[in-house]
Amino acid sequence: MAYECDMHTFYKGAPDVVVLPETTAQVALLVRLCRREHVALVPRGSGTGLIGGAMAPHGGVMVSLTRMNRILELDFANRCATVQPGLINLWLSQATRDAGYYFAPDPSSQMVSSIGGNASTNAGGPHCLKYGITVNHVLGLEVVTGAGEILSVGGKAHDHPGYDLTGALVGGEGTLGLLTAITVRLLHVPAGVRTLLASFSAIDDASEAVSAIVAAGIIPAALEMIDETFVRAINEGVGAGYPKGAGAVLLIELDGPAAEIEAQAGRIVQICRDHAALEIRVAQDEAERALLWKGRKEAAGVVGRMSPAWILQDAVVPRSRLPEIMREVQAIGARHRLVIANVFHAGDGNLHPMILYNDLEPGELERAILANDELLRACLTMGGSVTGEHGVGLDKASSMPLQFGDADLNFMARFRRVFDPDGIMNPGKLLPSHPACGEGFRPSVPRLPAGAWV
Ligand SMILES: Cc1cc2nc3c(=O)[nH]c(=O)nc-3n(C[C@H](O)[C@H](O)[C@H](O)COP(=O)(O)OP(=O)(O)OC[C@H]3O[C@@H](n4cnc5c(N)ncnc54)[C@H](O)[C@@H]3O)c2cc1C
Repeated sequence: MAYECDMHTFYKGAPDVVVLPETTAQVALLVRLCRREHVALVPRGSGTGLIGGAMAPHGGVMVSLTRMNRILELDFANRCATVQPGLINLWLSQATRDAGYYFAPDPSSQMVSSIGGNASTNAGGPHCLKYGITVNHVLGLEVVTGAGEILSVGGKAHDHPGYDLTGALVGGEGTLGLLTAITVRLLHVPAGVRTLLASFSAIDDASEAVSAIVAAGIIPAALEMIDETFVRAINEGVGAGYPKGAGAVLLIELDGPAAEIEAQAGRIVQICRDHAALEIRVAQDEAERALLWKGRKEAAGVVGRMSPAWILQDAVVPRSRLPEIMREVQAIGARHRLVIANVFHAGDGNLHPMILYNDLEPGELERAILANDELLRACLTMGGSVTGEHGVGLDKASSMPLQFGDADLNFMARFRRVFDPDGIMNPGKLLPSHPACGEGFRPSVPRLPAGAWV
């Protein structure tokens, strides 16, 4: 069933009904009804999340926002746009490019994920290294809270008085309310862009090069790492033409005025050579640039070539610890006799180790789970976080106490109750279900009666 899970297919839970509203008023009416009947509500954008967020472990009503997918206003004078939550991320840049503008947050899923989902997970992406993550681009929100109220927070003007509720709602993962309109910043399309690919024989050299580039004070628009396993699979699956036999590849993009990117490209080439780069390519035209990016953006599609099953980790470390954590990733893989493949936003220190296992081989899943746990703890020991960009959802809720103390979690739970007094909004997600945290969601009508009509 399509609505049983998001892209983290490990967790499944079907809603009792799926509702596809078309207006904010319909959303508000639905929330009030669910509140009255104490039925759980699960918001859903495109369902590309990787955290078990847009799925219904307790049943209830799933609210799919795909029909609320219009651009409500393009305001170039104020460099912003207001959109409905179901609008696909890439559609906004396509609609504004001729006027010289674009929407910067670009998760690798941007061809299919919704801006409502991006805002709710506070999505990152390759170009977030230079331009910031989704929260840095959301100016204002319309939200229907778990109490059924319609709130407007933030807006086009700078520096709103009072608490920064926009900042709090971005990344709320549907636990505070449903975003029904989003005002986002638009940026000018950069004057020029230069894309480079550097290959290395060892991932260690590539990691050291990343640290050296950032330490040199250069902030590329994107700085992505692709390891040997992925390079091979991408070449076979997508035909990206990445250097054969490379132990790791860095995809580096610079943008800005021509003179600036020229100077930065020269320094980056030198840094990569200093770190034993095997080959450095500079895309000569738009077609070559698009091919280099195609390999990276379609990496998720080649996973099936590598393994029948996998666990994807999303932990993050301070970027200066990248070489160290990559050595640890390799050691953990060797210890558990598993291949761990890597393609990730190296400039952010945001790792995506993909632990490959065969679910038909006895014991492999158990070893993969142990490896995943060790990876998470290693990142935390290095001052990192349990999640980098995908969010918490169901997947990471139980890991939150590894990073936060009781006081922190209790405060978050009380904050959540302000928006959602009856605990109907996306229960079981984001915060651990621990009585001390005050979540304790207990639907009095856990499932809608068979044949219920909404
Ligand atoms: C191939 C691939 C590549 C990816 N690359 C990246 C990447 O580079 N960076 C990144 O950050 N993520 C990435 N992701 C993960 C995912 O695409 C993002 O988390 C995305 O922001 C989810 O958007 P969505 O519309 O699919 O949301 P969904 O998966 O439908 O929902 C995500 C969460 O947001 C909530 N939600 C959705 N819409 C609303 C709303 N209107 N109001 C309130 N809550 C809502 C849901 O309840 C759920 O908790 C990738 C996923 C895939 C499959």
